[in-house]
Amino acid sequence: MKNKIELSLIVPCYNEEGNIKAFTTEVKNAFKNISYEIIFINDGSTDNTLKEMKKVSHKNIKIISFSRNFGKEAGIYAGLERAEGAFISIIDADLQQKPEYVLEMLDYLKQNPDTDIVTAYQEKRREGLIISLFKKIFYKLINHFSEVDFVDGASDFRTFRRCVADAILNLKEYYRFSKGIFSYVGFNSHYMPYKVEPRHSGHTKWSFNGLFKYAVNGIVSFSPAPLKFATFIGSILSIFSVIYLIIIIIQKLFFSIAIEGFATIVVLILLLGGIELICIGMIGEYLSRTYIESKNRPIYIIKEYIDNK
Ligand code: UDP
Ligand code: MG
Repeated sequence: MKNKIELSLIVPCYNEEGNIKAFTTEVKNAFKNISYEIIFINDGSTDNTLKEMKKVSHKNIKIISFSRNFGKEAGIYAGLERAEGAFISIIDADLQQKPEYVLEMLDYLKQNPDTDIVTAYQEKRREGLIISLFKKIFYKLINHFSEVDFVDGASDFRTFRRCVADAILNLKEYYRFSKGIFSYVGFNSHYMPYKVEPRHSGHTKWSFNGLFKYAVNGIVSFSPAPLKFATFIGSILSIFSVIYLIIIIIQKLFFSIAIEGFATIVVLILLLGGIELICIGMIGEYLSRTYIESKNRPIYIIKEYIDNK
């Protein structure tokens, strides 16, 4: 029988040894009335995450263990490839996202055949002022530059139909940015507010540096606009320099004003040199991605796969 499983839960895990058992128990208690499977992805954890997964191993639990850390996005892709449910949910292992919300999402999808994706978003962010400010700037920038829409506060916590999963599996790029990928594939989204719980155990994998790289990846992956920055700045500077040139000529010819300005020249050379280097750097960012993508490397490598069915 096709689609025997109603719901697949994709759970990317990196060093989550203290959460696996609690997560499995909570899911078991919450999902008494539906047929579901859990797909744990051990993303190259250096602690006992895999051991813990094997302890809870059951016929409705699949375990994919990567050969090293490939990142959450790679984990999601691996999970999607093996998900058998009619509905699929992406959820973190740390119980910051209560499994009960998945039931709410599922109900919504069942009652609204036109909606394909339910995305949870945080009404109130649980983070510092500076991170919050940077996130605001990031969303302003990316929405301005990119052709697809990014919703501020939308998380990776989503439940969606099979057709969405199939569309995402068709995007085989190595640099994966799931917020962008979900906007890119389209379909009808519904945004559901949720409250983020404190982490059950362990600590977050995000540092400020990590978030910054994530933001750059998001912009570079989904918009070629920064590449046009050089043309834009170049054009403006050229216009200004022509105007300035005319002013200097007029001053010299008609008013005999001598033009001084060693300091001005030094500043201008440094400024232009700086802008040029920034532009080259931006081109480099895109070029390096093109280089990596052209190698067509796999998104992840599996060391061990356990399916007890
Ligand atoms: N994660 C992963 N690979 C990584 C980093 C994180 O699979 O390289 C998983 C992590 O185990 C967790 C989820 O992604 O289940 C979200 O990570 P985290 O809780 O650190 O992020 P936060 O909730 O703080 O945004
Ligand atoms: Mg978390």
